[in-house]
Formats: sequence, C-alpha cells, structure tokens
Amino acid sequence: MPIYLDSNATSQIDPEVIEAMLPFLREHYANPSSAYRMAKPARDAVATARREVAAMLGADPDEIVFTSCGTESNNTAIASALALYPEKRHVITTAAEHDAVLAPCQALEEHGLEVTYLGVNEGGLIDLEELRAALRPGETALVSILWANNETGVIAPVAEAAAIAHEAGALVHTDAVQAFGKIPVSVTEADVDMLSLSGHKFHAPKGVGVLYLSSRVRFEPQLLGGGQESGRRSGTENVAGIVALGTAARLMGEHDEAEVQALRDQFENGLRTRVPDYEINGDPAHRLPTTSSLYFPGIDAAGLLLLLDDEDVCASAGSACHTSALHSSHVLAAMGFDRRRASGTMRFSFSRFNVSEEVEQAVEIIASKVEKMRSLRTSGPIRRA
Ligand code: PLP
Repeated sequence: MPIYLDSNATSQIDPEVIEAMLPFLREHYANPSSAYRMAKPARDAVATARREVAAMLGADPDEIVFTSCGTESNNTAIASALALYPEKRHVITTAAEHDAVLAPCQALEEHGLEVTYLGVNEGGLIDLEELRAALRPGETALVSILWANNETGVIAPVAEAAAIAHEAGALVHTDAVQAFGKIPVSVTEADVDMLSLSGHKFHAPKGVGVLYLSSRVRFEPQLLGGGQESGRRSGTENVAGIVALGTAARLMGEHDEAEVQALRDQFENGLRTRVPDYEINGDPAHRLPTTSSLYFPGIDAAGLLLLLDDEDVCASAGSACHTSALHSSHVLAAMGFDRRRASGTMRFSFSRFNVSEEVEQAVEIIASKVEKMRSLRTSGPIRRA
C-alpha cells in the first residue's frame, strides 16, 4: 500500500461517499429536470447536497451553484464580476494564487484590463495596507484572494481583506479549494461575495465543484443552455458527483481536523530528530493544519521525489496538482525565496485517511533518502585512477 502524503493534490474518496453516490449511478440515473416520478430521487438528492454544502459554509442553499471543478468556479467568478461591471477595468489578486486564478487574470491583461498582484511576505502573507492602497473605487471590479495556499498551506486574512475591498465597492471572491474542511470556512464570518470549492480536495471524486454566490450580488452566468442551477450554470447536473460532494462536505464537518494536525505534527517533529536542518515554508501561525512545505538544504526535491516513489511514498515537489512537469514555484518566488530553495522544497499533505504508523514509516524513509543524497553529494564525483 502506498503511503499517500499528497492530499492537497487530490484526496482519497471516502468509502461512505462512494456508497452514497452509487444509487445515482445504478438506479436513479434519471435527469433531475425530468417531470416523471422516476426523476424525483435525483432531484431531491441534488437539493440535499445543496443544503449540506450550504450548512458547512453558513450559506443559504440557494446561494450554492454546482460546477465541474474548482477551476471552473474560479474562472466563472472572475468572468462574472467583469461582465457585470464593464466600466470597471481593474482586478486585484495575489502573486501566490493558484493557476486557476492567475491564468484567467493574465488573460484579462491580454485583453487590456489591469491586474494588480499583491505581494506576499516571507511567511506567505499579504499586507492589508497594500490591498487598501491598490484599491481604486469605481475602477476595481474584483478582489480575489486565495484562502489557503495549495503549496504552503498559508492562510490569508480573507475576512479583513473582504471588508477593505467592500469599502471600495469591489466584489470579493476567494478560492477556498484548499481551506474548506481543514479550517472553518464561513461566508457569514468572511462576508465574501463568491467562493470556490472543489470536491476532490475533500474526499469526493474529481469533476465536481461549487461556486458560492451571495444572494446580495448579481451574477452573469458563463455557461448558457438549459438553465439548470436556476439559470446560473447550464448543463445537466452531475447528480452522483453532487451527491458525493454534499456527503463529503457533511463528513468534513463531522471529523475533527485536530487529528490530522496531530499526524502532521508527528511527521514534522519526527523528521526534526532525523533531518534537523530542514526549514518550514510559510508563517507557522497561519498554516493549514494538514500541510508541510519543507525545504531540505542541498537536496534536489525532484530527485528525492523519485527515490520516495521507489518506496511507494507519494508527495510532491512544489505544486504538482496539474501535471508532472516541474517548474519553479511562483509561490516560493513570491515569498522572496530563490530557485535553490524552491528546488529543495517538498510538499507533504495529510488527511484523515493517514495513520500514525505510516507517518512514522514515511519519516524513516525520507530521512534515509535525504541522508543518502547528501552522502553521495559529499563523497563527490567518482575519480578514475
Ligand atoms: N485552487 C486551488 C487552491 C487548488 O489547489 C486547486 C487544485 O488543483 C484548484 C484551484 C483547481 O481545482 P480543480 O482541480 O477542481 O479544478
């Protein structure tokens, strides 16, 4: 059995989630929009999932729109904000966002809009005064802030940022794909207008997401067609996926993430005794309880990843949730770290499906591989006589 320490890339589907979705693949396959009685279980199940997600977010069920993934939710939120306010040609986001926000922002720039990328400090945190200074009342359409960073787990002050952005009349979106279920994510506390989630990051399958849309703001749909999701996202509902996401959201609420934090802490403390010189990326006081982004001086993370793979330990070097292509981390660069630090950084991310024994095993394996890599380096190249 592999030791899976890469839950920020994608998470194991909870067996209870699989059980919940199976009837909607087997018997209740009717289109939820159909009028006959056979469609009612599918329709009811989508409504239940909507309530389950809303309950976790402190939202109204009508404010939940099901999408195909976090990427769609992010792209839709940005496109809607700009379509609503064509006279506003400015967007603010951060330099440490996920590509699912950065790429659409870069596309906006190609179309002549202006995007301000807020910097982050060495701990990965934005400066709220920099946000305040960047806002242009009457011009800034949207502020989009990543709630928790996928690479480092650093948690942004979303509630404070939202309040500042609203004062300047901007809409606020947050990508809460990594935060949801790991820390409290409440739209009543953070008072954002739009928020993105992705099922596969919290033990539902891939291919289903959520866009929360506050009832107080207008919305410009991006997928037009049959008018599903109250006209906000056309396309026949992925009923089984939606049921899975709703169930997974409810289960996140029932589990205590302190248990996952205990595993993460066991991992970091165990490793500290074996590889004392590793450094943690990200402000320790504002970090997801489930993520370890660790810099091993003198180690090539891509090489370490391969050695770990030989031992069936799954982790990632930087952010590898989209491809296996290794590119230097823009997140670590934004934090002011050089390429050396980025290429020596590994990300380990934990979930409730990890157990203490495998964490202990992983520590041993990682420590021995790091020692091996270092000893090969210090012994130098093989010389011919
Ligand atoms: N936002 C963040 C912070 C992520 O970590 C991911 C993961 O890949 C995404 C967005 C994209 O989500 P999805 O894979 O559902 O498109």
